[in-house]
Amino acid sequence: MAKIPINLQTGSIEEKDEGDIIVGIDLGTTNSLVAYIKDGEPTAVRDTSGSNALVPSVIHFGELGKISVGNDAREQLISDPEHTIYSVKRLMGKSYRDVENIEGFFGYKIIDEDTDSLVKIRVENRFYTPIELSAEILKQLKTRIESALDRTVTKAVITVPAYFNDAQRQATRDAGKLAGLDVLRIVNEPTAASLAYGLNNQSETAQKIAVYDLGGGTFDISILEIHDGIFEVLSTNGDTFLGGDDIDQFIIDYWLDINGKSKEDILNDKSKVQALRLMAERAKKALSSSDQFKDHVGFLNCQITRETLEQLIANFVQKTLDCCQRALQDAKLQASDIDHVVMVGGSTRIPYIKSAVGAFFGREVYDKLNPDEVVALGAAIQADILAGNQKDILLLDITPLSLGIETMGGLMDVIIPRNSKVPARAGRQYTTSIDGQANLKISVFQGERDLVEHNRKLGEFILRGIPPMPAGLPKIEIHFILDADGILLVKAKELRSEVEQSIEIRSQYGLSEEEMALMLLESIKHAESDMAVRALLEARNEANNILLSAAKFLQQHREILSEEEYATTEQLTAKLRTAVQGEDKDYINEVMEELNAYTSPLAHRAMDKTIAEAMRGKKID
Ligand code: AMP
Repeated sequence: MAKIPINLQTGSIEEKDEGDIIVGIDLGTTNSLVAYIKDGEPTAVRDTSGSNALVPSVIHFGELGKISVGNDAREQLISDPEHTIYSVKRLMGKSYRDVENIEGFFGYKIIDEDTDSLVKIRVENRFYTPIELSAEILKQLKTRIESALDRTVTKAVITVPAYFNDAQRQATRDAGKLAGLDVLRIVNEPTAASLAYGLNNQSETAQKIAVYDLGGGTFDISILEIHDGIFEVLSTNGDTFLGGDDIDQFIIDYWLDINGKSKEDILNDKSKVQALRLMAERAKKALSSSDQFKDHVGFLNCQITRETLEQLIANFVQKTLDCCQRALQDAKLQASDIDHVVMVGGSTRIPYIKSAVGAFFGREVYDKLNPDEVVALGAAIQADILAGNQKDILLLDITPLSLGIETMGGLMDVIIPRNSKVPARAGRQYTTSIDGQANLKISVFQGERDLVEHNRKLGEFILRGIPPMPAGLPKIEIHFILDADGILLVKAKELRSEVEQSIEIRSQYGLSEEEMALMLLESIKHAESDMAVRALLEARNEANNILLSAAKFLQQHREILSEEEYATTEQLTAKLRTAVQGEDKDYINEVMEELNAYTSPLAHRAMDKTIAEAMRGKKID
């Protein structure tokens, strides 16, 4: 399996260009950054003042559709919260149902439908997917490195948390594509951090690594094993709402306490809350290198010693160590089995945290690299390996093109992404879209475009004999198993009835290198228009599902609806039906939301009535 260099300016396939550059990107929840190999050393790209490599992962939508990303956008968090999007990484690849519990955390509008479709964020009258929003952050990083290097950059390695699932990884890939970046590989953040410390080629024997990552808002612990240059994630644990922000809050609470104030005293004064928060963060950072801190906000005395801070955070740190213990248990290891401990994330600068983690694992931690940058630096090293510049590092065989199946509306659903390590296996569950559907055609495709018609068909088969069930009920698991010789086995199984079918496809090598390169090139060229088509088709699919449910609802519950309610529901479904014919995905989403908002109280009423009837012993239809 081969890598094909394409000149994106001319579109031609060329001999490997020695100057070919692939960058490493850490796309973070709070901050993002980009790094590359400069004179043999991984280097993070800083802002024009040369001091800061971090770009806050914040997007602001200003007047006349002006989008800003980074520090400028972060300044709008307080003044214009409805138009300022943060923590979008928490939404990647998530459905509405997935984020139900954390919705209160966001200051902006997430459309609150109780469905399995992917979340969208509403800003004024436009709907954005987390992919589109992440793409804005990536575009900003792309611009930053392009102006630093004075050349175009089109290839990247992007990092994700080790626990990201297929959908979240695919969403990250799509975001890269939309930002004009060919994402050569998605790398786990803890793997990248270990690479930055050179932990990939140190020893002949297998090594176990614990990566302790405490950022501003999240905590992750990953246990990895490295053997013959291959990283394997043994276990992950953590807390998605635990981080440096909590420490700032402990300090604020302490200051209120020593000043004899309660939270309510200052809660209404937004600027004071903000000033205290900034002061608390300053104090926390200062105490990482000195023993005490003294200042004031208005008349509030803001002093604190390192010793007090350590008392304030002792329980918090213990919580992170409990997560470490659980991660070890899951990996069936003891703390003493760990050979290396790597520190990642700004909060690991706190000396107390370093020593507590060191004591827990019984060894000194790796903390020499900048903990904010270490993941991006590792990504840059991985990028350099892919570019073929580090000959001594083993590169695994990879699949040159993505493999997937056709789903509703002719969309390509990638199951094994390109550049996956071979052998690979991956699976996903699907369902039927028609009541009583007995057969399901599974068409297998190879390629990077969003519509299967632009990709290459490898084969198809029909899963027959699905027992009659209402649409959406069958659980059909499709598995792709790609062996080391590039032979693909596709299996489909309906889990309720155990009906099963499979095919073997040997045509991985059927494509010439030129053909493969052309397919990749086409996918990059069409990324933006493909994404637009995908978004439109997805909106249409969702709308069609809602139209079906609405029709069923009107038919089944006519008696509980007033004339007016019935008429309005019909009117709104008619409006949605017309919208689906059109090409405007934002309009479809808007009408869908309107219909949902109107019918959801009616649906609740119908449900209450059904339950009441059931309790009276009547039959539920
Ligand atoms: P990250 O999400 O990795 O960028 O981590 C940012 C978090 O690290 C924020 O909560 C910062 O306040 C915190 N942080 C940055 N520098 C320091 C420092 N010197 N001491 C303590 N915490 C820090």
